[in-house]
Amino acid sequence: MSSLALRVQRAIRDVPDFPKPGITFKDITPLLADPALLQDVVRAMQAPFALAEITHVVAMESRGFLFGVPMALSLGAAFVPVRKPGKLPWKTAREGYALEYGDDALEIHTDALTPGARVLLVDDVLATGGTAAAAARLVERQGALVVGLSVLMELAFLRGRDALGDRRVETIWRVS
Ligand code: AMP
Repeated sequence: MSSLALRVQRAIRDVPDFPKPGITFKDITPLLADPALLQDVVRAMQAPFALAEITHVVAMESRGFLFGVPMALSLGAAFVPVRKPGKLPWKTAREGYALEYGDDALEIHTDALTPGARVLLVDDVLATGGTAAAAARLVERQGALVVGLSVLMELAFLRGRDALGDRRVETIWRVS
């Protein structure tokens, strides 16, 4: 494991049975409270895509925003939020996805991306991949290209990469 992955592992707090029994929640607030670590993490999350001519960083509500905005600034790219239904005020496109129990959906402003945009998706955690796959479909429906997905941590035992097909996935800390 890289030294940065070790620092991330030490900073993340596991909260058992949150938000419901059986889920171990990866609490990133101690990482956010460590400016040196947060800066190193943001730098490392964008580094694999520094030469990929990213035009837009698309981040998933809400913890994806915390990493997506500084990454967009660093890449010189536009920042685009993807949110839960009913949160974005302008015209939206919607993409649904299945959860363990029930369904959810994500929305994007229809004028947020131009055809041919080169998009980097950003989130804090890749778990089953349902969220990231829905975001990728939303982006591709706008005629844009998903260059890759950058996440702080990947819960690899949940096989999120399988939901993303051959799209490129980069992570700092892979939890096996
Ligand atoms: P999934 O769609 O299953 O890949 O779940 C990814 C989304 O749910 C991300 O937006 C994460 O922020 C959140 N998430 C899933 N599992 C966890 C977890 N164990 N701890 C914290 N956030 C999680």
